[in-house]
Amino acid sequence: MSDFKPCEDQSATFTGWASTGTPHLKKWSYHPRPLGPKDVEIEISHCGICGSDIHTITGGWGALPEPEIVGHEIVGKIVAAGAEFQNRIGEHVGVGGLADACGDCKDCKAGNEQLCSKKSFIFNDKFKDGRGGKTYGGFADRVRVRGDFAHKIPENMSLAEAAPLLCAGITTFAPLIQHQAGPGKSVGIIGIGGLGHLGIQWAAAMKCDEVVAISSSNSKREESKKLGATKFVNSKNPEDMKAAAQSMDIILCTSFAKDADWDALLNLVANNGKMVILAMPEAPLSIGAGAFIHRQVSMVGSLIGGKKMSRDMLDFAAKHNVRPWIETMPMSDCNAAVKHVMEGRPRYRVVMETGAAVRAQTSN
Ligand SMILES: [Zn+2]
Ligand SMILES: [Zn+2]
Repeated sequence: MSDFKPCEDQSATFTGWASTGTPHLKKWSYHPRPLGPKDVEIEISHCGICGSDIHTITGGWGALPEPEIVGHEIVGKIVAAGAEFQNRIGEHVGVGGLADACGDCKDCKAGNEQLCSKKSFIFNDKFKDGRGGKTYGGFADRVRVRGDFAHKIPENMSLAEAAPLLCAGITTFAPLIQHQAGPGKSVGIIGIGGLGHLGIQWAAAMKCDEVVAISSSNSKREESKKLGATKFVNSKNPEDMKAAAQSMDIILCTSFAKDADWDALLNLVANNGKMVILAMPEAPLSIGAGAFIHRQVSMVGSLIGGKKMSRDMLDFAAKHNVRPWIETMPMSDCNAAVKHVMEGRPRYRVVMETGAAVRAQTSN
């Protein structure tokens, strides 16, 4: 942040739960940037907890230099807006990993705002539009972002269930669209957790021939079938791995062990197929190149998704009834919620509720 320019609206104070160098979150307040003509202010009702939040607050991706409010599966109501979005006040919206992008570069014009060199992640980042200011995430009562990145929540979807779609949902939906999942294709999902349980549902709703749940234990065998998987592969069972060899056109890798056997995992991909990495490892991967040459397998990554993809994802979820399985907890108990996630216990996503969510429920 060497070229950081502060930009604060002293008349507004937002309060959240900040990481201050340890995973223990503390109540902490900040002044957001002044509401620009293209910005919206959201009163947050819900925020999911994603693996990226945990990596950030535990320092897995590097130490945090200053208090940081994470959270990038944000749902709430627009309560204030700049001139361009006055007509959206009162709208229920969701915000994922992006708070802003330039809108003008090659990547933005192609709908890939997540690749824009001037994009701003929703937390642990600065705005790059020249006004200055730092981004803060959704473990808070409010947030200000560019209105383009606040996506309308479909009418038939609960606000709590919408939250995980903003990261876990888009992260798994976008690569399936990009790599043309659908009839005639076999899709595998490695890791049946917050991301993977949505990946299975998308692939089933896209009518893929086979949807294969791949997990290192049998504990999720039955649940994966309920989610729409047609097959289950235990990656620790050599018989399972042999039977499934070279059978999947697209595999989404949502999590992996530090000692993952990449040759064995790549052997599940069909000739000319793709292994898509969705989780950022904390150390470099060690992979042999045999499958890349001899079977023309590719290994690619995918990062969340742009504005249009996010809107398409929410519409698809609404139409095909794709919903995360969630456990709700009060945001005031965020340390207990984070601990629950770190222990790998949620089935399959924790969504925290703020006072705004509680007030909305009691007024109904
Ligand atoms: Zn995430
Ligand atoms: Zn751009």
